[in-house]
Parts: sequence; C-alpha cells; structure tokens
Amino acid sequence: MHLTQDNYYGQAANEHYFSVSQYKDFMKCEAAALARIRGEYNPPPTRAMLVGSFVDSYFEGTLEAFKRGNPVVFTRRKELRAEFRKADEIISRVKKDPLFMQFMSGEKQKILTFGMFGAPWKMKMDSFSEGICITDLKVVANFRNLPLWRYDLQGAVYQKGAEICGYGQLPFYLAAVTKERIPDLDIFQIPQATLDMALQEVGRNMPRFIAVKNGSEKPDCCGVCDYCKSVKRAGIRNYNTLLEG
Ligand SMILES: [Zn+2]
Repeated sequence: MHLTQDNYYGQAANEHYFSVSQYKDFMKCEAAALARIRGEYNPPPTRAMLVGSFVDSYFEGTLEAFKRGNPVVFTRRKELRAEFRKADEIISRVKKDPLFMQFMSGEKQKILTFGMFGAPWKMKMDSFSEGICITDLKVVANFRNLPLWRYDLQGAVYQKGAEICGYGQLPFYLAAVTKERIPDLDIFQIPQATLDMALQEVGRNMPRFIAVKNGSEKPDCCGVCDYCKSVKRAGIRNYNTLLEG
C-alpha cells in the first residue's frame, strides 16, 4: 500500500501498518488499540493535540488550511481561542531562534514505510535532514514531564526506520517548546543508549501485538480506559472497596 499525506492516517493504512502511536495504543490497552484500528473507536483529538497540530501545520506551510479545516480553533466571534493564540505566540517565539529553526529546516512530513520485527511500519517525520538528523517538533506543557511521553520509543523506531530505508543511522532530536506563560525552548537529543534500549523494548512486545492485530490472539482489556468503559457491562461491587488504596 502506497502512503500519501491524504491516506496516511486512514483506516486502510492503520490496518496494514504499525506506527509508533499504534504501538503506544497497544501498550496502554490492547482492546482500545484494536477497536481504533478497526474504526470502531474514534476519540476526537483533544484541544492539547490540536495545539500541537496547529504549530506543526505552520512549519508544514499549511496553517491557513488547518484553520479552515478545524473551526474549533475559533470562538463564535471568529477570534482565535486562547489556546491557539498561545500557539501563535509559540510560533513567533521559535521563529526568532536560529538553532530551533535550523533543526526544523529539513524536509517536512516525510513518510517512510519499512518492515521491522516481522511487521510493516509507517512513520512520518516532522523534519528530516538527509545525512544529518531526524527532528520531531513537540509542543508540551513543560520540560519536566517530557520523558513521561516516551519519545524514546518514537526516536528508536524513526531512527531504525530511516536506517532500514537506506539513510544510515541518524541522531534523533526533539525540538521542544513549552506552553508556559513565557514559552521555553530547547533541542533535546535522545542518547543512543536510550534509543537502543527503547528499540529492544519494542522488539520484545511486537510478537504479542502482531498476534492481537491479526486476530490470532485475543486482546486484553485494561478495564479503565474510555473505550473499556464504553463497552463494559455493569457489575455488582462492594462499596467498601472504593475506600481502599
Ligand atoms: Zn482499556
């Protein structure tokens, strides 16, 4: 299956390929991940996700189209909502920083597909500088919580994917900017040892996720996520257990 900007996030692409976000979905809840792949569960993007996409689209050169396609960025009075005024402020801030702009100056939204750990994968890079590095743009609440998002998994898969596609082993960077009152900005390199460990982790989990995705093993339900709540049946429980823990 040939991927383009138009079909990259489509259901057919998600059924055929694994991606970092799909892998992370499987880690959180297999049942929800599978329902999402099959198009049975489509949580709308959160405002926080849209703020990230808003800034991404600026670098892609598609901000005006993004605004037209996402009327939720405007209030009823046709003004930008506060979160997206913040996004505008973030864009102005990073535009003034030469290093940040240098890291974001590669080929935008470059798509690669490849085989890894016995499955087909897809990936889309925010900024790809051939022979130099891969950079992903992150708009985050603060730097402190950056590692909680497991961007090492993304870096590991993107680095290995580019290598499999013949681009050599490239360093992986996060061009990160915060939504704080005064935005902070830096370029974080994920160390090679961290990427290597993350890739091993992906390799260990893939046999199970492949089996769940192709239907040969049954997905586990986490029991607590939005998807699991939406399909569960009520049970009878001991009131007192709510006071424990
Ligand atoms: Zn769940």
